[in-house]
Amino acid sequence: MSDLLDTRIAALLADPQWQDHPLHDALAELYRRYGEHAHALERLTRIADRYQSAERERGMGYADRYERQLRQLTRLLRISDRYQKSLQELNDELREQSERDELTGLYNRRYMYCRIEAELQRLARGGEPFCIALGDVDHFKRINDGWGHGAGDEALRLVACTLEGRIRASDLCARWGGEEFLLLMPQTALAGALTLVESLRVALKALAPAPDGALPAMTMSFGVAQAHAGQTLTQLLAGADRAMYGAKRAGRDRVAVDA
Ligand code: GH3
Ligand code: MG
Ligand code: MG
Repeated sequence: MSDLLDTRIAALLADPQWQDHPLHDALAELYRRYGEHAHALERLTRIADRYQSAERERGMGYADRYERQLRQLTRLLRISDRYQKSLQELNDELREQSERDELTGLYNRRYMYCRIEAELQRLARGGEPFCIALGDVDHFKRINDGWGHGAGDEALRLVACTLEGRIRASDLCARWGGEEFLLLMPQTALAGALTLVESLRVALKALAPAPDGALPAMTMSFGVAQAHAGQTLTQLLAGADRAMYGAKRAGRDRVAVDA
């Protein structure tokens, strides 16, 4: 049918009786452009689908080929869309993984560094006060030694879940390393931070040991520090660390403040 159309147009354009027809030149130009587009499409699809049988194309008119190639291009576009979508998903997943701790799913140390740094910069520009807290599971080595490393891992997941389930939406919790966890409490002055961290300590202590004896009861020691304008990240972290070791020395299972 389209093949016939091609032939008819070619015949009309060649017919001497239509040479002076007012539409002759316009039709000739349209037909030429149509041919060029069809060639361009053909080149594109050949690149994309070089195994396509050339035999099938033989004897096809421009219009048939044009339609077939349009269908192929539509298919290619759909594939390309899907490809871009999966690349985007992969990208999101990679970013998520690079920010998270594998064992607990909490943020990791690298991500938390960036967030605390951003808070320090905000504070230096006159932003609201904020606090951090470093928490360390007490006598964690005993869990590994007495219940096995797998139980130790399970205990860390339980701690992570307990902390994250109790902080506010604006707070952040990261696994700092080993059995240490770091909390970032934006827009929070010391008194508010102490109340929150104390509630976390109590919640963790109140977790009943697993009934089958698979896990023991746990406690944690916390060191809280409020950030000061102009302070470096290292100084702020050192403050929380000092306070946390103070809590350990004072008998563990408590919250201490960096003086
Ligand atoms: P303290 O009360 O003074 O903090 O005593 P502790 O036993 O908790 O402290 P210590 O630093 O001696 O022990 C920490 C242990 O945590 C040692 C290490 O093997 C264990 N640990 C670190 N990372 C992991 C982990 O990913 N999984 C498990 N199961 N254990 C870990
Ligand atoms: Mg430790
Ligand atoms: Mg410990």
